[in-house]
Amino acid sequence: QPSEPWRDFDRSKVYTADLESALHYLLRVELAAHSSLEGEELQVFKEFVTVVAKLYPGRGSVVKLMETLSDWLLSLPLQQIPYQAVMDLVDNKMKISGVFLGAELRWVGCQGSRPGLRGYPCSLWTLFHVLTVQHEATPTALDGTGLEAQAAPVLQVMRRYIRTFFGCRECARHFEQAAAAGMEQVKSREEEVLWLWNQHNRVNARLAGSLSDDPLFPKAPWPSPALCPACHEENNGVHVWNQDNVLQFLRHHYGAANLSPRYSL
Ligand code: FAD
Repeated sequence: QPSEPWRDFDRSKVYTADLESALHYLLRVELAAHSSLEGEELQVFKEFVTVVAKLYPGRGSVVKLMETLSDWLLSLPLQQIPYQAVMDLVDNKMKISGVFLGAELRWVGCQGSRPGLRGYPCSLWTLFHVLTVQHEATPTALDGTGLEAQAAPVLQVMRRYIRTFFGCRECARHFEQAAAAGMEQVKSREEEVLWLWNQHNRVNARLAGSLSDDPLFPKAPWPSPALCPACHEENNGVHVWNQDNVLQFLRHHYGAANLSPRYSL
């Protein structure tokens, strides 16, 4: 794999190029490992597409494509859908509506210092942080989807997506354990945002110094004091998070207004 030119980026921004590359990879690589979707897989894929169609705060053409895909999946009376049929629809729709997802993966905030590091898993975290924050900002967005009745619907859909499709099976096992241990307690949209943040930091702590750690992006508690000074406090010499400020920061960082279209096609 030839290495690509480095793309300068700002760590205080979220890049639509990463979010679109996440969707590209998910649809064209991760899903392609399944020659057809049926039963639980089909159900989980439908839910994922619905959540993105309703909550994705990036480019309108991406939302439109996900809406079309969602409507189509929900209207099909089939118990089983060949993966190729999903891809044909995506390709067709892209031809009609013009550019949607780039023909290539383009990591920006998720670039790794060498191939194999960061990229897709980084962008999948980013996507779900964005979706939890968008859900908090638009409480009624999921109304009518059947998902609104569950507590923490975005987390539930993430849990099922990871369990069913995420290519890193070890990651999926870990995440399922964490979800089983604590996701049930999440009762509000604010808690949904904070649960994912906290869980992501637990994973960071576990992976610090491991093989998947990019030396240019060492795993550390996030946000750093440089990104969010007000998130950090000291209590009798012990570091504590100021959760109210963390929530504020997450709303800002993963909010629609902080998305950068730079490097996006
Ligand atoms: P990532 O951890 O991918 O983070 C991406 C970006 O999110 C960071 O650059 C930062 O801007 C931001 N961020 C960092 N921390 C937080 C936070 N707490 N809250 C909000 N935003 C944050 N790898 C394994 O080896 N073992 C595992 O068990 C494992 N489990 C995983 C489970 C899930 C659900 C996912 C999506 C990935 C998992 N991975 C696991 C992959 C691993 O977590 C990283 O995604 C990967 O190593 C790439 O790391 P990264 O440096 O790009 O940063």
